[in-house]
Amino acid sequence: MSKFLHIANGFKRVVFPNVCVCCGREHTEEQRQICSFCLRDRFEDGNPENKKVSSDSLLPEGIVVQHALWQFDKGGDLQNLLHQLKYERLTTVGCDLGRALGRRVQSHPGIMDLFNNHESVIVPVPLHYLKYRYRGFNQAFKLAQGFQEIWEEVPICKIDDIIRIKNTRSQTGFSLEKRLKNMSKAFRVKNKGLINNRLSVIIDDVFTTGATTFELADSLKKAGAGPVIILTVAQA
Ligand SMILES: [Zn+2]
Repeated sequence: MSKFLHIANGFKRVVFPNVCVCCGREHTEEQRQICSFCLRDRFEDGNPENKKVSSDSLLPEGIVVQHALWQFDKGGDLQNLLHQLKYERLTTVGCDLGRALGRRVQSHPGIMDLFNNHESVIVPVPLHYLKYRYRGFNQAFKLAQGFQEIWEEVPICKIDDIIRIKNTRSQTGFSLEKRLKNMSKAFRVKNKGLINNRLSVIIDDVFTTGATTFELADSLKKAGAGPVIILTVAQA
């Protein structure tokens, strides 16, 4: 690095320090919002034993793995991070979290087997276009982009490949039965060729009851997908 660049970078760090959005400490990594300590050690592992199902949920047929990176911490730093991603447009947080999820999966033997034995496609949970227009981006797509930085060869479904045709309100407080009914026929797969026989890797921010991701998986299976796995940053 030239002396000038070195001084310029030093100046930039003083004026615009890289501060972790999670812990507020200054760190040196360029263009990362979350420091490596927070990404590695701050939150409780969602699936330390690499089980096929990391929550207590019963998986419907066709979904072979449900894996969450961390346990959700109501009112805590992780909830705050996910909130920043979703509502404060800190989309680079999504890429950091997606990358962390992509790396975590590399140490899960069951998921690695699936990736090694199938052609795969990344399926971020689609947003209804009204919500998309309002928010300006899909947070699950940001996670998927980070995930793809680790899994470079795996394509991501584009915005028109699978669409959400039901604009559901928040399902907080609903029973699973009511949530499932609410989500019934919520998605339409338009590009069946892209998912045909492939391992579908559904990506979302939080896994709660599974109503949304189970319904999406059902639509994928009916459209000809291979095995489906659900990967999320957190599980409630
Ligand atoms: Zn931090």
